[in-house]
Amino acid sequence: MIIGVPKEIKNNEFRVAMTASGVHEFTRQGHTVLVERGAGTGSSITDEEYAGAGAELVTDAAEVWGRADMVVKVKEPISIEYPYFRKGLVLFTYLHLAAEPELTRALMDSGVTAIAYETVQIGRALPLLAPMSEVAGRLSVQVGAQCLTAPAGGKGILLGGVPGVRPANVVILGAGVSGTNAAAMAIGAGADVTILDINIDRLHQLDDHYQGRLKTVASNSLEIERALLQADLVIGSVLIPGAKAPKLVTNELVAKMKPGSVLVDIAVDQGGCFEDTHPTTHENPTFTVHNSVFYCVANMPGAVPNTSTYALTNVTLRYALALANKGAAAALEADPALVAGLNVAGGQVAHHSVSTAHGLPL
Ligand code: NAD
Repeated sequence: MIIGVPKEIKNNEFRVAMTASGVHEFTRQGHTVLVERGAGTGSSITDEEYAGAGAELVTDAAEVWGRADMVVKVKEPISIEYPYFRKGLVLFTYLHLAAEPELTRALMDSGVTAIAYETVQIGRALPLLAPMSEVAGRLSVQVGAQCLTAPAGGKGILLGGVPGVRPANVVILGAGVSGTNAAAMAIGAGADVTILDINIDRLHQLDDHYQGRLKTVASNSLEIERALLQADLVIGSVLIPGAKAPKLVTNELVAKMKPGSVLVDIAVDQGGCFEDTHPTTHENPTFTVHNSVFYCVANMPGAVPNTSTYALTNVTLRYALALANKGAAAALEADPALVAGLNVAGGQVAHHSVSTAHGLPL
């Protein structure tokens, strides 16, 4: 099969859908990989590395799309890429079609087989979304620590303190993928860390794992208030699948927090779990509420495209290889996880939430 890797052209997207190791695997298994020149630059992967792994470098995006049997990408195609769609092409990427009616229509009209990373599912797990939550969780502590410095408007406190000086108090709301990764980083930095969740089984697991180095608390509004009144850094990492994030931190509560506290809302992409959250960008990531600093960047992994590219491709590669080795139809038949990822095929929407979002038949 010929696999195409175009350069991402969406604004501020520096990730790439395949690393040199991925190219090596595909070519070793008898496939041809076309990589658009410069596709890896934003993730510090050079054209020479791709060529050394066996890729054919192509100057023109149209040629990558035109010659490939399957295109692998990171972000959903934008309108100037729609003319590349054609019958028989397999597209494997993040799509978020529920929010993209025009893209959905373009995929249907062209006869592309579109498989979305975000809906590939094993049981209740979303394995191609999880690495971005891992990145956001770990990064939340890094950015939170930076925001706590005095020049950034924080109270001027070091996460781990120093011998003889108390460490920062870090409170994490939500003990899922991102919250657990935030906890690991905050504990590693020497902070005093409390994590709250409504899932008591999850708190049991974390308590067992951390053996007293992490405080676990059942989440409810009184416990959240108690924890936040002590907090220097709060990380919001809750998710109710398919729903908007619950507003767990009111404006009134923020008003009572210690001046210079920092609140990082990872859940901003689901509406945020703080009442005053609004999405911000890497260029202008923070704003002030009462005397606290809010950080609410909606695409946190974009700040670390190098790590994010490797984290993403580590989990997408095996599915992309299955699609290439077996062909899309046989790969889908063999793997229910991929079937859950199928969003558009044969001119029809093939995913329940996309059909519901656009009032289209399945
Ligand atoms: P997850 O499903 O792994 O974890 C969510 C946790 O929240 C679960 O353990 C759940 O029990 C808990 N929870 C639900 N309601 C709660 C409540 N009232 N109090 C305390 N805990 C509660 O989700 P995740 O993968 O960690 O993702 C969390 C959020 O981060 C999602 O909205 C996701 O889209 C978002 N995210 C954002 C970025 C970004 O760049 N900002 C990147 C990746 C993920």
